[in-house]
Amino acid sequence: MGGSYRNRVGTVIAAVALLLGTATAQSGIQTPEQFFGFRMGTDNKLARWDKIVDYMKLAAANSDRVRFRELGKTSDNNPFIALEISSPDTLKNLDRYKQLEKKLYFQGGAPSDTERDEIFRQGKLVLLITCAIHATEIGASQMSLELVHHLATDDSPQVKKILDNVIFILVPSLNPDGQIMVTDWFNKNLGTPFEASGIPYLYHPYVGHDNNRDMYMFTQKESQHTANLLWHDWFPSVWLDEHQMGSNAARIFVMPATDPINANVHPLIYRWNGILGQSQAAALEAAGKEGIIYNSTYTNFWEGAMAWSGWWHNQIGLLTEVASARVAAPIDQVRAVPGRPAPAPGRPRPPAGRSRSRAP
Ligand SMILES: [Zn+2]
Repeated sequence: MGGSYRNRVGTVIAAVALLLGTATAQSGIQTPEQFFGFRMGTDNKLARWDKIVDYMKLAAANSDRVRFRELGKTSDNNPFIALEISSPDTLKNLDRYKQLEKKLYFQGGAPSDTERDEIFRQGKLVLLITCAIHATEIGASQMSLELVHHLATDDSPQVKKILDNVIFILVPSLNPDGQIMVTDWFNKNLGTPFEASGIPYLYHPYVGHDNNRDMYMFTQKESQHTANLLWHDWFPSVWLDEHQMGSNAARIFVMPATDPINANVHPLIYRWNGILGQSQAAALEAAGKEGIIYNSTYTNFWEGAMAWSGWWHNQIGLLTEVASARVAAPIDQVRAVPGRPAPAPGRPRPPAGRSRSRAP
């Protein structure tokens, strides 16, 4: 790997770490809080998919760092969207960078030595982040609004470095139909005895939770749009898929997952999965966060998860799993519960007190 490549990976580490940041900059673009009337992650408040799409269009219309694309319709005929975010100069020449990235992945044949050097010298790190394929794991779809505002408006050296070196593709929801179903069910029951109850039907029109098991057959429109983005349009080098897990233990899972690794995946992919996952953990711990697990719960071998399908195309594929609230309702955690396992490495206790969508 050349120095340029290492530099670009260093930048993507910063980009991934930025996900943990908060939006503070002011500019001509309304903040999500101004647009929705509440801060993202406020107890019992959810931004619904149609309004999320409206906000992303607004951000793109008012920023030369953000492009809005509708990739097609979902199973229920809602817009399935992606944002392309980078420096204005990069966005003006996006097709050229797309060709360099495709060449990096041998599309149209292996690159010559000259072409390879050009890719590393002039290309950008192409990073994809996908959110909330499991619709009740709704936090990332809410977070994505602040992330876009931050990248569109912040002029700090950190954000400038990211924009100059990264082409960031954001899919705010891999399951917009489910986002709508979960939001409507939550709002309908708010203030009733059924508040924060589980949704009693599948949160995808056909395949429910198994929308995350379709990247070998591509039976669903959402999988087809994602595959087109991944292997025909862009060829992202790094793909992070954001999920949520249970409420009663760790606060976040980051890569690496558990052994065994899969012999059909290049070992270098596992190395980079671990390096980038651990950089997320380091950024969190440097920010004083606790309850980070890795090498736990999720397996390196499994071929089912959507975001890990990139491993077989030599793409770095990362998973995060964040502790859940009750969709948007808070949970009261207590330290000692009879029958709960004792804390151990890889199984930290949750913090006592109120656990909510937005981390303190
Ligand atoms: Zn999930």
